Amino acid sequence: MKIGIVGSGFVGSTACYAMVLQGVGNEFVLVDINRNLADAHAQDILHATPFSRPARVRSGSYEDLVGAEIVVIAAGVSQRPNETRLQLLERNAQVFEDVVPQITEFAKDAVLLVATNPVDIMTQVATRISGLPPERVIGTGTILDTARFRSLLGEYLGVSPQSVHAYVLGEHGDSEVLVWTEAKVGGVSVFDFAEQIGKPITGEIKQQIDERVRFAAYKIIENKGATYFGIGAGIARIAKAILSDERAMLTVSALNSEVEGVPEIALSLPRILGRQGIIATLPVKLSGEEREALKRSAEILKQNSVRIGY
Ligand code: ADP
Repeated sequence: MKIGIVGSGFVGSTACYAMVLQGVGNEFVLVDINRNLADAHAQDILHATPFSRPARVRSGSYEDLVGAEIVVIAAGVSQRPNETRLQLLERNAQVFEDVVPQITEFAKDAVLLVATNPVDIMTQVATRISGLPPERVIGTGTILDTARFRSLLGEYLGVSPQSVHAYVLGEHGDSEVLVWTEAKVGGVSVFDFAEQIGKPITGEIKQQIDERVRFAAYKIIENKGATYFGIGAGIARIAKAILSDERAMLTVSALNSEVEGVPEIALSLPRILGRQGIIATLPVKLSGEEREALKRSAEILKQNSVRIGY
């Protein structure tokens, strides 16, 4: 199964590496405006295949994406000194105006998997430019934030994160919403379970977990300049759900017709993923406060998407 990666920098190449190690897909084409970089990463990753799974890994051009089932888009530019977030966003939208039509010209049936930040706006931009149905343009969204939330709750409660069901919705960023009211261990509310084991989730504990989820990336970027291992593994997880028609529930971004009264906005909600992309979006029960927070998140995103004309 063929997977294309457009933008083979830190995130794109790490995603490819994660997929190769896990045996998700068996043919990879790395595309980048810097062909030498794409080629170097392709060679390096190819050399890992004897120790992992058999796979073909090469650099290529857009024509080489013919037949790809998924194209990961991780192309983007980094912030210049004194550049505002909005200017950066405009330049990344220009990158997508360049790459997305070339992808859809050749990878006609592919699901697009957007990882470039700010991922919700870039998912919206990719959906608009491609003209594809929103189910086929998926953003990595809050997949990692949800994973962090589940692991921190699991750690606090002494339970495997696999048995903790909790979601982070909305923007992948400062305004994201941790849905505490529906957080569960098995089918039981985390609050009830926490009381039962004598470790109540106090306001202080809630705040600590919230901040560790919401601001995790800042700390990493401060110390190593970028994040890519976590998101690379997240991309591999989404790709696996799609390629194996898994029908797994993951919180990912996609263009929604309406969220809390805000029309046409991409953000993360719990979604079932399979061969065609998004198969269903689950309705979530939220408290009044969480509903307000999700609305605010949608409004913030909407303002930015409107400002850049998407
Ligand atoms: P990240 O940490 O988000 O992966 P990088 O800068 O390492 O950031 O990767 C982004 C990649 O996107 C770079 O390798 C860059 O060359 C590539 N890129 C930027 N603009 C384009 C474009 N128009 N077409 C293809 N690739 C692009």
